[in-house]
Amino acid sequence: MTIKAYGAHAGDRPLESMDITRRAPGVHDVQIEIAYCGVCHSDLHQVRSEWAGTLFPCVPGHEIVGRVSAVGAHVSGFQPGDLVGVGCMVDSCQHCEECDAGMENYCDDMVATYNSPISDAPGHTLGGYAQQIVVHERYVLRVRHPEDQLAAVAPLLCAGITTYSPLRHWKVGPGQKVGVVGIGGLGHMGIKLAHAMGAHVVAFTTSESKRQEALALGADEVVVSRNADEMKAHSKSLDFILNTVAAPHDLDAFFVLLKRDGTMTLVGAPASPHPSPQIFNLIMKRRSLAGSLIGSIPETQEMLDFCAEHGIVADIEMIRADEINAAYERMLKGDVKYRFVIDSATLAS
Ligand SMILES: [Zn+2]
Ligand SMILES: [Zn+2]
Repeated sequence: MTIKAYGAHAGDRPLESMDITRRAPGVHDVQIEIAYCGVCHSDLHQVRSEWAGTLFPCVPGHEIVGRVSAVGAHVSGFQPGDLVGVGCMVDSCQHCEECDAGMENYCDDMVATYNSPISDAPGHTLGGYAQQIVVHERYVLRVRHPEDQLAAVAPLLCAGITTYSPLRHWKVGPGQKVGVVGIGGLGHMGIKLAHAMGAHVVAFTTSESKRQEALALGADEVVVSRNADEMKAHSKSLDFILNTVAAPHDLDAFFVLLKRDGTMTLVGAPASPHPSPQIFNLIMKRRSLAGSLIGSIPETQEMLDFCAEHGIVADIEMIRADEINAAYERMLKGDVKYRFVIDSATLAS
């Protein structure tokens, strides 16, 4: 089926309206009419060829929500009319150690929602800046939020799970003091989720202007990281730090805030490396440095259900599809609170 999408034909070209085709649903497929798609920093990096290996035409978008319009003959978990979501992956090998463990996000053959090679035309996956998508049922998530929150649910599919997964893996909960570094698309979700998990949340930002915002998001305390005295007041006191900042920065400034056995987990992917940390800061208190990639499909469903139960959605600004290029420029300036979401109804005009 031919549908409308928004994408780019080259890394130095703006995104524009284009026609793309989707396969007819196979026996295990779910066809989804996309209602909204969130705009992730990864979209911008990929479509502008700032990351290696961008395949064109490139249609970004991996924070997808919508309604099921058709299902294949062997699909039992979904039916037309269901509210669903699709995140950063649409397939994986389904038989490796990671897939068998329900950790598809760590499968070496994970098929990303856009820019992964596949046999269907045009030879690679095309993402959610589009009217419709067809996805194997295993990679479709159920949305249990009220329908009027659907647009604000979209960013949970990447920003939400990327922060939820490490908070759960490192068992963040009541009685713990948890730092969230960076208050952007990822960080604002990290604050909301860590707060809902019952932790005492300390938000770290470089900008004084975000102090009140962070408190409103659920932070118990806010530290302006440029202020040495404010930083020192939290020395050796944090159980866990979720670091969402993608720009290279001094990791040691945060390591020294961790208690014995504390871990700092990085979820931002810098284009150039962070300065190497002082190993002494790790040795002295048996501290750990870790990374985490989105989350598995079962964990993404758990996250969506947790958010529905706790009334958690992203803070969003809705845009028309033809506003995407301007939105990218604003994202680069940090001028968004905290996620743009494309109204897919505007793709048709
Ligand atoms: Zn993303
Ligand atoms: Zn696999």
